[in-house]
Amino acid sequence: MSYRAAQAGGRARAAAPGTPPAYGTPPAYGTPPAYGAPPVEPTAWPRRPVWFFDLDDTLHDATLAAFGPLNGAMTDYLQASLGLDRAAADARRRAYWQRHGATLLGLIRHHGTDPHHFLAETHRLPGLEARLRRPRSDAQALARLPGRKFILTNGPAAYAARVLGSLGWRGFEAVIAIEAMRVFGQWRPKPDARMLRHLLARLKLPAHRAVLVDDTPGHLRAARREGWRTVWMQGYHRPQSPRLKRLRAGPPTVPAGSPPPTAWQRPGRRPAHVCARISGLNRLRALTFHG
Ligand SMILES: [Mg+2]
Repeated sequence: MSYRAAQAGGRARAAAPGTPPAYGTPPAYGTPPAYGAPPVEPTAWPRRPVWFFDLDDTLHDATLAAFGPLNGAMTDYLQASLGLDRAAADARRRAYWQRHGATLLGLIRHHGTDPHHFLAETHRLPGLEARLRRPRSDAQALARLPGRKFILTNGPAAYAARVLGSLGWRGFEAVIAIEAMRVFGQWRPKPDARMLRHLLARLKLPAHRAVLVDDTPGHLRAARREGWRTVWMQGYHRPQSPRLKRLRAGPPTVPAGSPPPTAWQRPGRRPAHVCARISGLNRLRALTFHG
């Protein structure tokens, strides 16, 4: 089921076993969102939650599989397109990510970069499938989790399809990738609040039913401000955890260039905008009943 169809038709049945997940097509945003209504502040977890799952480092070990090569490819792109040396290109990539939340947004705003060209060039990621990992228990937990489920990722749709298909993730109603995060023609990936409001308006969902499961605290903070419930997935940010050790046991190593955890990502803290912290998806079901 496409994202557009999901918007129009509401609830959809999960994909049958053996069929690849349905991937979204970019929606044509245009209907003004329901501004003015204050976000609902829930006192408990919603009875009928609608789950929005981030992809990288939430549903798979992207630090292991993708981030090193991806950062390298983005630096290559800046070096070639802007005529910078390697060090300057790497510094510019980091600066745009910190300032705009995404390297792509900096390139669009300051250089008029074609986003589709950038995404295609930087997400080739040869050999990605061989590096992908996710615990079996997470897939089982997701299959048992009640409620509608969407993917909400700042990655491009083709990359998301590749990861989800290769890992056999099923049961998502639609994939909302970065190409679908445009509001009135502007690219507005997470954590953009307008994109979140538009998304819920198009899905005809009140904010208190939406639950964002994400490993990036900045994304959770924006969603919480909009009245969403937020779950901080930390399962891929604990290098010494038995879970991650088991998952990473095997030939691949963490690629050079993978970013170290920041202060926000260190386990042990739960900021006010985080409703719950988890290290595996098997905790989600309990949250909906005992939150
Ligand atoms: Mg992530």
